[in-house]
Amino acid sequence: MRKFFCMLLMTALLMTAVFPLSAFAGPSSSSRPKKVALTFDDGPHPYNTDKVLDLLAAYSIPATFFVIGVNAEHYPAPLRRAVAEGHEIGNHTYSHPRLTGQNAASFAEELEKTEEIIRSIAGVRPVFFRPPMGIRDDVVRAVAEEKGYELVLWTIDTRDWAGASASSIEKNIFDHVTDGSIILCHDYVSGECHTLEALEHVIPVLLEQGYEFVTVSGLIRMR
Ligand SMILES: [Zn+2]
Repeated sequence: MRKFFCMLLMTALLMTAVFPLSAFAGPSSSSRPKKVALTFDDGPHPYNTDKVLDLLAAYSIPATFFVIGVNAEHYPAPLRRAVAEGHEIGNHTYSHPRLTGQNAASFAEELEKTEEIIRSIAGVRPVFFRPPMGIRDDVVRAVAEEKGYELVLWTIDTRDWAGASASSIEKNIFDHVTDGSIILCHDYVSGECHTLEALEHVIPVLLEQGYEFVTVSGLIRMR
C-alpha cells in the first residue's frame, strides 16, 4: 500500500514536471500584449523635448505630449518633430493656469488658442485634454466636453515635477505599472529633473516584461 502511494506521488510529480500547471490555465493572458502609455506634459522645450524624442526613437515607441500653447509658440520645432515621428499631441491649455475658479469663457479660450497653435504648427487637432496639475471641476469637465475633448489624467505620477530622483521615478513606475497604465512625466520642469535618466532604464525593462508602449488613443481604443 505504501509503495502504491509512493508511485502515485512520483507520477504526480512527473506529470507536474512534464505539464507545468500553466499549460492547463487556458488561453494565456500574454496573447495580447500589456499596454502602457508614456505621457509628457508642459513642453515643448527647446532642449528637453528633443532628448525625449531621441530616446523614444531609439526604441521606436510612441508617446503622448500634452503641450502648453505658449511654449509651442516659442518652440514649434520639437512639436513638429513629435508629430512627424508618430507621437500624439494633447491640449494642456495655453498658459497652464489653475482652472478651478476660472470662468468658462476664459478656459474655453485657453483650449481654443492652444488648439489653433497646435494645428498651425503641426497640422493636427488634439482630442485629449489634461488640466494643469490635474485640477478640474464640473465647469472644466463641461467646457472640455463641449469643445470636443476627452479629459485624460494619469494612473502613475512619477513626481518628476517635484525633482524626484531617477531611482525613485523607476521604483514608482515598477511598483505600480500594470496593463493600461498612463504614466505622467514631463519634458519640461523648472529645476532638477531626472525623467530621462529614469526612462533610459524603465523602457527596456518594461519591453522585456512584455509591455507595448502606445499613445493615449492606443490605450483608450483598447478598452
Ligand atoms: Zn502641466
